[in-house]
Amino acid sequence: MSYEPKRADLSVPVRVNLYSDTQTRPSPAMKQAMMEAETGDEQGGSDPTVWELCDRTAALLGKQAAMFMPSGTMCNQVAVATHCRPGDEILAHQDAHIQSSEAGGPGAISGVMIRGLPGNRGIFTAETLNAAIRPLSRYSPPQTLVEVEQTANKGGGSCWKLSELREVARVAHAHGMKVHMDGARMLNAAVALGVAASDMVADCDTVWLDFTKGLGAPLGAVLAGPRDFIGEAWRWKQRLGGSMRQAGMNAAACIYALNHNIDRLAEDHRNAATLARAMSQIPGIEVETPETNLVFFDNKATGLTTSEFAARLRPLGVSISVSDTYRGRACTHLDVNAAQIDGAIAAMRQVLP
Ligand SMILES: *Cc1c(COP(=O)(O)O)cnc(C)c1O
Repeated sequence: MSYEPKRADLSVPVRVNLYSDTQTRPSPAMKQAMMEAETGDEQGGSDPTVWELCDRTAALLGKQAAMFMPSGTMCNQVAVATHCRPGDEILAHQDAHIQSSEAGGPGAISGVMIRGLPGNRGIFTAETLNAAIRPLSRYSPPQTLVEVEQTANKGGGSCWKLSELREVARVAHAHGMKVHMDGARMLNAAVALGVAASDMVADCDTVWLDFTKGLGAPLGAVLAGPRDFIGEAWRWKQRLGGSMRQAGMNAAACIYALNHNIDRLAEDHRNAATLARAMSQIPGIEVETPETNLVFFDNKATGLTTSEFAARLRPLGVSISVSDTYRGRACTHLDVNAAQIDGAIAAMRQVLP
């Protein structure tokens, strides 16, 4: 088995890239900001642009300190390693990215277990959490961390409401657990709900933002939390090889994204709503009503698997992602405009039997 990605066939250009918001390209203005960035040695503390990004993100999130990382996955792994000790148990939704899509990192790196909780659309309730908490006992793994994903990716890009986050955090903290937010698309939720980012994460001890999703930067994520936590997390960043050098060029792209690409997420949400409405009118497709920029659908009644559906769309220049045999995802982002959405709909109608 080789785990190396297949080289993409680029001979047919992708005209409408609904595969993921990770596919956004840095815009000319973002590249200009990167070119002009002041840089230094990030791991030596002398890159002023990285410090600026960390300070800006910490302020945005209302946290004491922040650190720049190469990826969101590394933010999750460093956070878990810093919060937990081997033998600990993390409580997270059973479909959480940290559980299904990070190559077993929590077990491999930190020696922790994850207990998957059920819940609609990727969101579990305070009652469900409460029921999963065991009395302290010599037999039980220490339950030290609750992880929430905002927005819940496999849940359909769904948003935890502020009240739901508060309740879950109250239960966690009452039992001496910390709360960590996988905020890969947290700003999508903040924009969709009209809640300030700092209010959204006020009850989470630690949180990170991905700059390579809807924010449109080529690389990077920022993990934020209490100063002593970030101080300790630096050892894990170093240990995992996440300390960088002239990272200011990438930090400049992230600062550009903070300045220009947050409010416009609302446009992605409008495009997703349009896409969902139009897809729901295609015979055989059932659409989950989107809350943000992810449109999940079931195409079983078309008679095609989602892989077959995706394979028929690709020669027409439309790319979608396959989640399951009959479940797919179309994702809007800053490189997809309303006209391209119309083009994708036309292509879907064309390829279906
Ligand atoms: C993309 C994603 C991650 C991982 O982020 P990378 O920057 O790709 O490593 C983690 N959690 C969720 C919910 C994601 O969507």
